[in-house]
Amino acid sequence: MPELPEVETVRRGLNQTTLSQPIVGADVLLDRTIAHPALPTEFVAGLRGLAIAQWRRRGKYLLAELVDAANQPAGYLGVHLRMTGQLLWVAQDAPLQKHCRVRLFFPGNRELRFVDQRTFGQLWWVPGDRPPESVITGLQALGPEPLSDDFSVDYFAQWLRGRQRPIKNALLDQSLVAGIGNIYADEALFLSGIRPQTLCARLKPKQIQRLHHAIRDVLQTAIANKGTTFSDFRDVQGINGNYGGVAWVYNRDGEPCRVCSAPILRLKMAGRSAHYCKACQR
Ligand SMILES: [Zn+2]
Repeated sequence: MPELPEVETVRRGLNQTTLSQPIVGADVLLDRTIAHPALPTEFVAGLRGLAIAQWRRRGKYLLAELVDAANQPAGYLGVHLRMTGQLLWVAQDAPLQKHCRVRLFFPGNRELRFVDQRTFGQLWWVPGDRPPESVITGLQALGPEPLSDDFSVDYFAQWLRGRQRPIKNALLDQSLVAGIGNIYADEALFLSGIRPQTLCARLKPKQIQRLHHAIRDVLQTAIANKGTTFSDFRDVQGINGNYGGVAWVYNRDGEPCRVCSAPILRLKMAGRSAHYCKACQR
């Protein structure tokens, strides 16, 4: 599943390709991909003639700021890739992918395609007179961006205090911090030497500080590597990221730890796999 570094990689690619040209039309191939408005025809009519001024990211959400022909603000296009969603910048006459769900047409035979095998991905059109969080309600519950000043050690420690739940599960909670998923939670816990099943309330101030640092470190490294190699992640040009080759523990169960050579273990937690090294994480 794409996490913050992958969504950030897609955002940067979209800002290099899709800006300042009108959306001349759209085609919705799977109705339920459109989370708002209720009718796909309204989605298509709403976007027609608007251009994208820039793409922003909040957690794992992508938000395109739309402008009209007079360059005035005209609402938002929201995208959440969920499990397998991909946004691809292609030629309109390129062969259609089997799992293509939505097509946005641009001048000069260009097209932004939303391809999504598992069909959990969502698109929203937010009209200009409404704040995005009133339509894309998932935005309301998001905690701070992990790379922003709002995500301070103090805030992190305060949130974890007294919570009787495993730290791994807390890191996946988007109301604690936005954009972290299974991959980077496992990686950050390895880097800070903390086992995924450790209860939040048991963490000492030094550990919280180390984990806070590791979260930022691992996200920045992954962004620099243009996201992960795993699963269905592709950037807008259809290219896989590079982070997988350097992952410490994620998806490496049975393989030797890169630090101590002990085999990486896998554990089921809250329906997800947690990967860790018994020797390096105590
Ligand atoms: Zn180890």
